Amino acid sequence: MDKLIITAAITGSHITRQQTPYIPITPEEIVASSEACWRAGAAIVHLHVRDPSTGQGTQDLELFRRVVEPLRARTDLILCLTTSGIPGRNLPTDERLVVLELRPDLASLDAGTLNLGGRVFANTPDFLDEAAERMIVQGVKPELEVFDSGMAVACLRMRAEGKLNDPLHVQFVLGTPWGAPATAKALVHLTDFLTEDATWSVAGVGRHQLSMGTLALVMGGHIRVGLEDSIYYQRGELATSNAQLVERVVCMAEVFGRSVADPSEAREMLGLTEPGHQRESA
Ligand code: ZN
Repeated sequence: MDKLIITAAITGSHITRQQTPYIPITPEEIVASSEACWRAGAAIVHLHVRDPSTGQGTQDLELFRRVVEPLRARTDLILCLTTSGIPGRNLPTDERLVVLELRPDLASLDAGTLNLGGRVFANTPDFLDEAAERMIVQGVKPELEVFDSGMAVACLRMRAEGKLNDPLHVQFVLGTPWGAPATAKALVHLTDFLTEDATWSVAGVGRHQLSMGTLALVMGGHIRVGLEDSIYYQRGELATSNAQLVERVVCMAEVFGRSVADPSEAREMLGLTEPGHQRESA
């Protein structure tokens, strides 16, 4: 079985300090938490940034730069920057895609529209086309975030139309209130859509983080954990850091006899160029 790629989703866009005091908010906190995850065994960090004055998610390029530059200097982490903006707020396309200017290794691409947080998280066909095209132009690999089977179908159609290049990398996000459930049946069903050389990972939302991770571990998929997806370590007990959640996955991998990929191994598995290559031409 392939080595396990662990992604840490550091902060997301909406968890507040009232919900958990451990959520990183400032660029410095996001960098420190990412670095700790790297030391713990994460190969990828999935990054949002927060406006330090409001604590809410933002697509402010300078804030992203204040996270990306120190992480590039201090780690060899694979950086995956969000293009979600703030789900439900539906920011203009240019604002969502501004992060591509930083030439990250990966950028998230939410593969369709769904209800989220009581609102519509709009990812129209036009947006998907525009985002996919700009990612190809900028040399950024999309991480296809798939919340239900219709989104998997959309990815395959875009691939057939030449808008997405092989090998695809898919992040199944399961257990949101209006998306596919976090069940073994749903995960197996979704993986049936994958193309032969695609890589996939799963993010179980909330209390599903552990069960979905365990399934991915034995199915040969990869795992995303982090405070963006679940603020609890276990029932009734807050996770005290992102690294704590990464450490648990590393222990699970050891128990199941699966080795953990370091960033350079993960880069090769995902078909990414070496760090620095894209930046030199940027
Ligand atoms: Zn995210």
